[in-house]
Amino acid sequence: MVAAIVALSLTSTFGAQVVITNDPNTTIRNAASDGAERVCVLPARIPLWAVDKQGKWFKVQLHPALSGWVFEDSVKATGQHEQPAKAVVGKIDTGLWEGGEKLVLPMSRAAAFRIIPRMNPSHLAVQVFDSALDSAACGETKGRYLLSNIKPSTPGAGWTQVDLDVKAPALLGYMAHYEDGKSLVVEVKEGLADSRVEGKIICLDPGHGGPDSGAIGSGGTMEKTVNLAVGKRTAELLRRAGAEVVMTHDTDRQVGPEGCNQAQELEARVQVGIKAGADLFLSIHNNCAGGNCSIGGTEAYYYSAFSKPLAADILDAVSYALGSKRRWVNPAVFHILRCTDCPRALVECLYISNPAEEQEMAKPQFVERAAEGIIGGIRQYLEYAAGTSKGQPRGSAPIPAGAAGP
Ligand SMILES: [Zn+2]
Repeated sequence: MVAAIVALSLTSTFGAQVVITNDPNTTIRNAASDGAERVCVLPARIPLWAVDKQGKWFKVQLHPALSGWVFEDSVKATGQHEQPAKAVVGKIDTGLWEGGEKLVLPMSRAAAFRIIPRMNPSHLAVQVFDSALDSAACGETKGRYLLSNIKPSTPGAGWTQVDLDVKAPALLGYMAHYEDGKSLVVEVKEGLADSRVEGKIICLDPGHGGPDSGAIGSGGTMEKTVNLAVGKRTAELLRRAGAEVVMTHDTDRQVGPEGCNQAQELEARVQVGIKAGADLFLSIHNNCAGGNCSIGGTEAYYYSAFSKPLAADILDAVSYALGSKRRWVNPAVFHILRCTDCPRALVECLYISNPAEEQEMAKPQFVERAAEGIIGGIRQYLEYAAGTSKGQPRGSAPIPAGAAGP
């Protein structure tokens, strides 16, 4: 009863006010907890209408039917108690950027947003919260070559949505930011010119490194050592096939600045791929099941739906190459996978916590097979992404021996 009264008094004393995001990756969640589902992730300098505060979490009203929670350290309270006027979306435009085509939504002010990708056909829904469409926004917007069927709408009170089709066999990435503080720009990547490995920019991230050993097997094998060996051999074979390979690190070290925390370390790795303009990003790991030494096999993970085909192809090819149990391809909220700049996957080749698999990792052919499997998966994915797959069912086809090529 005492707790209820305290909670009530906290609620009643909070004066609704504007808070502004000050973290470039401000996460809005559907409950006041770190583990709660993400509603959207916002850049810095977005005003939000906070209507409550519980503990260290602000409750923000994104639109009349959608609220979320943001951790107090991610925002700055302004003390401004007047709700800002809705963001008004003006004449929608398109333009070019070096990687494809962009959608430009000029607005009266920055507002919270999220982008929902769909596949087959490739499509994006750009949702802008706490906004309304100006009559100019409703005029026709023509795409240049990549974007088409650009349709603004007001699906509910207090928010707007712009739907667009992407003319490419597969969605290969998109990034959004505000320009001049109030024009929302969504850069969409164009399709692949062909399915060849040659000329593709591939970012490889051997998991862990430096002070972070990753998992350690009962035989003393450190995960970081195995991941790095597989990553380096994969890079070598890919380069031989003509790919431009960028590694987050090719020596046993951490990637982020000295003394950085784990999130900063992972973000430093994400940034390596973004700066390189990678066509795809793959993080290479080996798994650990704690004290359960009987679990073994290969797994792959992705976050954005458009990255699933990459993860599925890597899983198929790696488990085939290693002759391991094909466990699953699952979505996961790993930091390294969340950015939507390009398809991103994480592969867990084998279980280091399984003594038989740990011994397997010590054999010289393991690194070779894992690398060939990864490259086979990348080749299969590129066929899919370029729209040149031979029609075999996706996510189940075995890779013929030697598919890794020269
Ligand atoms: Zn790991």
